[in-house]
This record gives sequence, structure tokens and C-alpha cells, in this order.
Amino acid sequence: MKIVFFSSQPYDKTFFTQYNQQGYELIFLETHLNEQSVKLAAGATAICVFVNDRVNAGIIEQLAKMNVGIIALRCAGFNNVDLEAAKAAGIKVCRVPAYSPEAVAEHAVAMLLTLNRKTHKAYNRVREQNFALQGLLGYNLYGKTIGVIGTGNIGKAFCKIMLGFGCKVMAFDLIANQELMAAGVDYQPLLEVLKADIISLHCPLNEQTKHIIQKDTIALMKQGVVIINTSRGGLVNTRDVIHALKSGHISALGIDVYEQEEKIFFKNLSEDIIQDDEIQRLMSFPNVLITAHQAFFTQEALEQIATTTLNNVQHLAENTNLISQAALLT
Ligand code: NAD
Repeated sequence: MKIVFFSSQPYDKTFFTQYNQQGYELIFLETHLNEQSVKLAAGATAICVFVNDRVNAGIIEQLAKMNVGIIALRCAGFNNVDLEAAKAAGIKVCRVPAYSPEAVAEHAVAMLLTLNRKTHKAYNRVREQNFALQGLLGYNLYGKTIGVIGTGNIGKAFCKIMLGFGCKVMAFDLIANQELMAAGVDYQPLLEVLKADIISLHCPLNEQTKHIIQKDTIALMKQGVVIINTSRGGLVNTRDVIHALKSGHISALGIDVYEQEEKIFFKNLSEDIIQDDEIQRLMSFPNVLITAHQAFFTQEALEQIATTTLNNVQHLAENTNLISQAALLT
């Protein structure tokens, strides 16, 4: 059986090849999936896509014509796939629901600690024999209030870490998690959670959550709020956030995801002129930390992603009914 991978990177090849116990024929393409590149899926039983592959109705129609029966997402989020169109075309869609929530949660904490204690600046200073502390002042996380939006797998792991730091954790989710409540997480309406000292986003991107952070919600936040987004770029209205950074309303921003990341992330553009003025403006702030969608990027997560994706494809291709409900999207 042939699986064609789109948007693949060298590490995808390494891990998927290593964990390919099924002995499938794996074709690794660097190109994103689009109206032109979809033709390269000819002869495949399954395609394997990542966060920035837009799997729209037109592409699904072409896949169906080529008898591609499975779209396997090697990620958790699935906002980039038209599930209705896939269902109508009889194409199965699967994902990796929880490969290593701790990987993403720990990265969110790393971003928060970096922004707070300015370790990125300290590293550069010391290398230049500048041992002065002026400008590196941080604050204790102990006792601060953390607002968590979305307490699924990743949000839950994040809440537990922050409770360990001695923070007060408030959360908003459509469903309260009993285990977290017992651990001391205080579920509150969104409007209350927005008043926290630090806000971390862990909900999926959908019609309800698109631009959940925008001028009206920022207006409800504390002066000096810190925002961390490791979920999806579309949760944040970038223009409004830039405005609030300029005014000082947002004192620090950590983003591992960006609304227009598709054209930028996962590429080395060091020789190019970046045309996206919003990311350039964000990059110019001393209190903004940007990482390029690397929160998932741990050894454990990549092993789990490869194993689960290949097992998902096997279960669907062999119709075994063994695929987990959380992994099956159509
Ligand atoms: P999950 O499905 O386990 O949890 C999502 C939670 O959000 C659920 O508890 C759900 O009830 C809640 N939710 C849904 N709609 C909501 C709303 N309107 N308001 C508040 N909460 C809402 O997902 P997860 O594994 O925790 O992943 C969360 C998100 O993290 C994914 O959707 C994905 O976009 C992102 N992610 C990012 C990376 C990365 O590398 N940066 C890696 C994996 C996942």
C-alpha cells in the first residue's frame, strides 16, 4: 500500500520510516497539498497531511477521482480539512488525537518562562560579556492567576504544570474536567477567565473560537496581561494584538502559531524578503516571542505521531474497527 506524505520534513521521513512496521510504501513530498500537487497522490491508498495543508472540497473531489480512500492527519487539530466534503466523497479522515499533550503544554510553559525571566536576552548578554541585570526584571509565577481556555488533553497538562508552580488556575471550556476541578482548577465563564494575569489558549480553532482574542476581548483583560498561544493562529486577531502591544495593554506575547503561518513556518527564509508585514511587526517587539509551530516537536511526540498515524491507516484500510473514536473524523 502506498501513502503519499505532503509538507514532509526530514524528521517525518526519519520517524515514519523507522516506525513503518507495516512495510507500506511511503512517498515523502516537500510540497504542501494544493490543487496542483494533489495529482502526485495518484496510485496512493492514503495521503498523509499536516497542519498547513488545506484539504478543501476541490482537493477532496480530486482525491476521490483518484480513489484515494484515506486522509491521515499527522496532527491533532483538523480545522484545515473539509470534513463534510470528505464524508460526502466517502473518504475516511483520521488524526492523532493525543500524541503527547505534555510536549505542547511544556512548550507553552517554556514560552511563558522565557518572556517572564528573559532568559533569551540573558543568554545573548552573557555571551557578549555583559553581566548587568538592568532590563531583565521578572516576576514570580507563584501566586499569579493563569487563565486557560480549553482544558482538553493539552490544556489539562498545562493546568497541572501551572498548579505545580503554585499558580491559581482559572479555566474556561464547554465541558469542565472533574479531575482538574478536584486538583483545584476553578472553572469560570470566559469573561472571568479573560481577567487572569496570564492567558494560555488550548482550544481548537473553529467558528466559535476564531479570533477569540480580539479588541473586544482584549478590552476585558488586565492591563499588562500576558498571552500565550500554542493552539492555532486563527484564535488571535493579529492586528488587534499588535495594537494592544503598542499601547502596553498586553505586556508580553508568546506565539507558536500564527494566522498566516502557512507561507512562513517550517521553511528557512533567511535569504528572503518577508512580505508579511504583521509578522515583521510582531518580530520587532522585544516582548514578543515567536516559535515556528514547534510545540509538538519532541522525540516522544514524533514517535507517537508516526506509530498512531500508521496504525490509523492500517485500521481503516483493513476495516478492523480498531481505530479509536477520537482519531476517526469521518
Ligand atoms: P482536545 O480536543 O483534547 O481539547 C480541546 C478542548 O477545547 C476540549 O476540552 C474542548 O471541549 C475545548 N473547546 C472546544 N471548543 C471550545 C470553546 N469554544 N471554548 C473553550 N473551549 C473549547 O485538543 P488538544 O489535544 O488539547 O489540542 C488543543 C489544540 O492545540 C488543537 O486543536 C490544536 O489546534 C493545538 N495543537 C497545537 C500544537 C502545536 O505544536 N503548537 C500541537 C498539537 C495541538
